Amino acid sequence: MPPSTDQLTFCISCGEKVHPYSYSATGYSDLNEYGKTSADFEGKTGVVTYRCTCSPRELLAPNHENTGTMCAGCGSFMNLFATHCGSCSRRLR
Ligand SMILES: [Zn+2]
Ligand SMILES: [Zn+2]
Repeated sequence: MPPSTDQLTFCISCGEKVHPYSYSATGYSDLNEYGKTSADFEGKTGVVTYRCTCSPRELLAPNHENTGTMCAGCGSFMNLFATHCGSCSRRLR
């Protein structure tokens, strides 16, 4: 079991509370480059996805690699593609 601090409970896309999920263990730094989308990463080893009502498809969990934005509210690092903090739901940008 990972420590509870590694659990995320908010959607990084809309900030809504979702079923708890963990950080993805795999980096996907080339997401949104070369036309890649989240679908290119779904099902890959170490990739964590979760469900939220804001999207009809699975959403990618952030990971600890290639971190981009630090949440001013709780200090968690979120990938650049996150618009909300997965830990406290604060809007990042
Ligand atoms: Zn959402
Ligand atoms: Zn936060």
